Amino acid sequence: MSDTSRAACVIGWPAGHSRSPLIHNYWIKQHGIEGEYRREAVPPEAFEDFVRNLASKGYVGANVTLPHKEAALALSEPDDRAEAVGAANTLWFDGKTLHATNTDVEGFVENLNASCRSWDRGLDSALVLGAGGAARAVVYALVQRGVERIHVANRTLARAEEFRERFGKGINPVRWEEASGLLGVADLLVNTTSLGMTGQGDIELPLDHLQPSAVVADIVYTPLETKLLAAARERGLRTADGLGMLLHQAVHGFELWFGVRPEVTPELRALVEADLRKDVRK
Ligand code: NDP
Repeated sequence: MSDTSRAACVIGWPAGHSRSPLIHNYWIKQHGIEGEYRREAVPPEAFEDFVRNLASKGYVGANVTLPHKEAALALSEPDDRAEAVGAANTLWFDGKTLHATNTDVEGFVENLNASCRSWDRGLDSALVLGAGGAARAVVYALVQRGVERIHVANRTLARAEEFRERFGKGINPVRWEEASGLLGVADLLVNTTSLGMTGQGDIELPLDHLQPSAVVADIVYTPLETKLLAAARERGLRTADGLGMLLHQAVHGFELWFGVRPEVTPELRALVEADLRKDVRK
């Protein structure tokens, strides 16, 4: 690589499943940038050393994926959203300082903006299924958007209760079994659990209890259309899918590393969809 060339990477363990190289290398080529985006499989015990040597390895920044999103916080200067969410997925250098943010937050919101116009108009109450790492980014995004009541239903109630401590009294932690009783009051339903993923079982909820104006978002993207989204579409509800969030969360990192704000286009979406379908056929 030449002196003007820039490199970024995704750091994960494993890292083979990540679609980030496909997305970022597509944009690198599209914008004629001299650069490269690589995949780095780094086990937890080697993560700190890897991050401390990120610049000497020639990287201007990185994405961080499972299981390193929390460890990345302690090794960087996190911004408010990474701090609030308690996890970082994007690292970049400003001079010698390594900064961190969490772009799942804007990925979730920008995907809703793109998929369901005015989705947040009159949005008072949301029902979020799940209380894992991705749910923290989703709930933080909704709190920032001013949603007053966010019901968080989780199989392990204690994890949902932690959300109230983290995000304040607008959060109503509820048992998993209580979710169906809240559908009638939810303007937005979001699945952040791993249910709906290929081989993981499905969300079984009576979607006919939702109001006709309700929006349904699922952040799972394998399969591309989960049973939850298919049922919502069949009911005529507006939906936002997980692949859209994945593509939109990549935008800010690319801009930080390569200095150009890229676009999520139908062509990029088709490229990643085709790649995801290859996995389904395996
Ligand atoms: P975590 O492991 O942190 O959380 C998993 C969540 O799913 C927990 O709330 C867990 O409940 C719940 N869950 C798992 N199995 C079941 C079950 N059988 N019944 C009920 N609840 C269950 O995972 P993440 O938050 O990191 O990821 C969750 C999903 O989001 C994954 O499918 C991931 O691929 C996707 N994702 C998508 C992104 C995108 O850009 N589209 C970004 C990040 C994640 P409990 O607490 O009880 O264990």
